[in-house]
Amino acid sequence: MAKKILFVIIFILSLAALGGAVFIHHIIHLNGESVVYLSLNDEYHESGARLDLLDEDNIKIIGEVDNTKVGDYKIKYEANVLGIKVSTSRTVKVVDREAPSIELVNGETVNVCSVEGYKEDGYKAIDNYDGDITDKVKVERQDNIIFYTVSDSSNNSVTVRRYLSRKDDEKPDLKLKGDSTYVIAYGANFQDPGYEVSDNCSTNIDVKVEGQVDTSKGGIYEITYTATDENNNTSSVKRYVKVTDHTSNKGVIYLTFDDGPTTSSTPKILEILKRKNVKATFFVINHEAGSDYLIKQEYNEGHTVALHSYTHNYQKIYTSTDAFYDDLQKISDKVERLTGEKSMITRFPGGSSNTVSRNYQKGIMSQLASEMKIKGYHYFDWNVDCGDAGGAKNSDDVYNNVVKNLSKNRSNVVLMHDFANNTKTINALERIIDYGLANGYRFDKIDMTTPMVTHNVNN
Ligand SMILES: [Zn+2]
Repeated sequence: MAKKILFVIIFILSLAALGGAVFIHHIIHLNGESVVYLSLNDEYHESGARLDLLDEDNIKIIGEVDNTKVGDYKIKYEANVLGIKVSTSRTVKVVDREAPSIELVNGETVNVCSVEGYKEDGYKAIDNYDGDITDKVKVERQDNIIFYTVSDSSNNSVTVRRYLSRKDDEKPDLKLKGDSTYVIAYGANFQDPGYEVSDNCSTNIDVKVEGQVDTSKGGIYEITYTATDENNNTSSVKRYVKVTDHTSNKGVIYLTFDDGPTTSSTPKILEILKRKNVKATFFVINHEAGSDYLIKQEYNEGHTVALHSYTHNYQKIYTSTDAFYDDLQKISDKVERLTGEKSMITRFPGGSSNTVSRNYQKGIMSQLASEMKIKGYHYFDWNVDCGDAGGAKNSDDVYNNVVKNLSKNRSNVVLMHDFANNTKTINALERIIDYGLANGYRFDKIDMTTPMVTHNVNN
């Protein structure tokens, strides 16, 4: 009997040992799933493991999860049960579930002149994980819709659409050439500097110019320019031209002397002007050595020293606008150095109407005439020519050329010269002044408030 009992005990113990070994291997259990998905940057919460029957504090957890990096992370759970090491593991998959975004430059709806001619405005694709993935964007066009698709490295993808709408609601770009306001003398010629026009869609742009300047009547004149494109979008600009009241400088004589100073002529002219108490305007050049003191004298005696040219060499100055401005700057610097005052009053060699410049640069006078005003210069031509550089044979001719062409209904800008040995003009000057004073004219010098008297540009 005892033998039988012992056998039973041994049998039970054997069963326990055998079953225990099997049992121990299943003793550690994960809380939660063995594969866990974690979104990028989300916090990982360890849900742990448990042991059947035994104290859970014995479980050692090994491994870490970097939630900022996509990947698989293994967490190991180990414990010691009755001297036997048991373990299990869990896989944490850090995944990027966020789709990239695509931003379209100029938005999702674009008005275009023609769908076929649409030029991509640009786009940018940004992913939370991959960063800038613009170069991975696939662009497809179906009629008037453009599809932009991009996938990130975790295969999250996005598609955005751009709609091209056939519509032109943009006004033509209309700009005035020259100034928006002009002040010109009564009787002077006004030449409209024109306009520039362009349009996003149309090549045929209709421009209407309305309003006219009547320089025989003082007042403010309005010129309206209206541009209409092929889709009927219009824009309009205005220019104002003030014609000075003819009473203000009616009957004024502006004597002007070009091409000096010269030691043979200028002192004699200055002497007559001083004696007659008449102020005049000298358009000077750099010509005669040793004559600089005369520029100072002109200025000191109250005349206007204005800019003509440094070289007065047509071939040089009318070759390019740069050459012209270089030359002008030189005489400007010289006048400023001698008088202490910068002059902004000029006269083009040959006048703005000269045709000689055509030989050197086509269109240069048109360009200079409009640019000079923008640069702030006031340039003066003349409406009375004494002829001393041309047809006048003697001082009587000079006298007659002037007095016959004076008018009391306008300002009179008289072209004369103080080049070397100009006895024709020197001998006529006093008589011209006497005639003017005796006939109710007034003599004055040109200043920045004097309305410009200009010719038509011919080149
Ligand atoms: Zn000249």
